[in-house]
Amino acid sequence: MKESRSEKIKYNIDKARENIEEACLSCGRSPEEVTLMAVTKTMPVEDINVACGYGVLTLGENRVQEMLSKYEGYDKNADIQFIGALQSNKVKYIIDKVSLIHSVDSLKLAEEIGKRAVNAGKIADILIEVNIGGEASKSGIAPEIVCEKVYEISELKGIKIKGLMTIPPICENLRESSKFFENMRRLFVDIRDKKIDNVSMDILSMGMSGDYVEAIKQGSTVVRLGRALFGERKYI
Ligand SMILES: *Cc1c(COP(=O)(O)O)cnc(C)c1O
Repeated sequence: MKESRSEKIKYNIDKARENIEEACLSCGRSPEEVTLMAVTKTMPVEDINVACGYGVLTLGENRVQEMLSKYEGYDKNADIQFIGALQSNKVKYIIDKVSLIHSVDSLKLAEEIGKRAVNAGKIADILIEVNIGGEASKSGIAPEIVCEKVYEISELKGIKIKGLMTIPPICENLRESSKFFENMRRLFVDIRDKKIDNVSMDILSMGMSGDYVEAIKQGSTVVRLGRALFGERKYI
């Protein structure tokens, strides 16, 4: 039984790698430009470590508490990144454990990250989360003011802005999703072309299990896959 579980995960990883490669080749990109991230939420450490052992070493964490409880058990070579909603008062628990925070959606949060990073003697790499569909229920900065926020946040000490992240609205079809990804790419390129100090714009984090092929075709450099690798989540 255990054997078959890990075989299943490896099979899913192979499949995802194939799809990533195919998507890249179809639009003239190199597959090396796209990082496959394993999204760990609700999944047991054993499953995550199967993925790590199979070369998927970039892990995406959503919840501070869950991450802290699993952290010690993870493969020592794993590169842990934070992708979920982050409250300012929890930054201190993760600042020394993650290499990138994808979900920075306010100046206040960025200030706290900068402050904690300075205290820890490091520079924190961050992405700015964009609410590309302008949904009231979602976190992320409205597309119209992203550029202005990037300027503000780039002034902070202890922080380096490396790019943008998004979770698009749930769409009826993939063509609709593609539109949102395309808008993200435009925003990303616009900001990159401004060559703002302390902003490098080389990571575009978009695409999940249902839409990562479309995201890659629009320029994604990190796809965040949960269900496509580990199967459906069981929330308790
Ligand atoms: C859960 C989650 C994912 C992965 O979603 P799947 O549909 O399981 O691939 C990606 N990004 C974020 C921010 C998530 O919360």
